Amino acid sequence: MAGEPQADCLFCKIVAGEVPADVVRETGTTVAFRDINPQAPTHILVIPRAHYRDAASLAAADPRLAADLLAGAGAVAEQEELGAYRIVLNTGAGAGQTVFHVHAHVLGGRGLEWPPG
Ligand code: IMP
Repeated sequence: MAGEPQADCLFCKIVAGEVPADVVRETGTTVAFRDINPQAPTHILVIPRAHYRDAASLAAADPRLAADLLAGAGAVAEQEELGAYRIVLNTGAGAGQTVFHVHAHVLGGRGLEWPPG
């Protein structure tokens, strides 16, 4: 069912505490933790506790939770005192999505070029 934990999902396991993570912020609906392979001096992933495969699926099923995810990204950026930062939501394998539990990358602490690669 939409939003239910998936047994084979890495990020559901992080939410459940079954896989360790460097958690920097938690709310009732979201968890934020440092990316294991950082692409910037600050690289944090913000995820909803509920399982949705990507941003569009989340927004269609639960717009309030989608707003929580974006607010969580902003809160993490403020907590880390990033000033300027980028929020990335890779969607689909062709765009670089490797974990199919929606996550917002929050990247900062260095210059960020445009367009992204
Ligand atoms: P995607 O490529 O947009 O799906 O992003 C997945 C991200 O998850 C990548 O940046 C990975 O480095 C990161 N990642 C994978 N496994 C872990 C983990 O166990 N802890 C923290 N980050 C992870």
